[in-house]
Amino acid sequence: MLCPRDGSELVAHTDQTRSAFIDHGISHCPSCSGMLLNADAAANSMTESKLKKMHEAFSSDCEEVDLDCPCCNSKMRVRNIVFKRINGTDMEPIEIDGCPECNTFWFDAGELQRIVNPDSKPYDDTAVESTALALALEILLQLPFVIL
Ligand SMILES: [Zn+2]
Ligand SMILES: [Zn+2]
Repeated sequence: MLCPRDGSELVAHTDQTRSAFIDHGISHCPSCSGMLLNADAAANSMTESKLKKMHEAFSSDCEEVDLDCPCCNSKMRVRNIVFKRINGTDMEPIEIDGCPECNTFWFDAGELQRIVNPDSKPYDDTAVESTALALALEILLQLPFVIL
């Protein structure tokens, strides 16, 4: 699969050292550090209903973006989603690209970095970065969210 932003070959994220809610379905781009989430592969009992709700939001009417879904080549769409922190406060809205056809979502690196690392110091190690961003993605999926 190719990165929808820059066409680099996506790398499956397999880090056996962390305890993962999601064992499969996350790939990252070595060039732009974006994350692809394939919900069919990633869904488990904890995340299934949330991913379904997220997918439905992209199937309904929303703005198309100039990104081709890496999985099925449909034009992706964009939505802003607000996640709630564990203390009940709202995070800044995150822009997520989603495929209206298949269960695929794209997270630009910057969107996830704002969560893990709000001071946005650049990571000098891409492996460390991809682990941090994948972890952020997994944590997000455990939180309640509102689709704008
Ligand atoms: Zn990329
Ligand atoms: Zn698709």
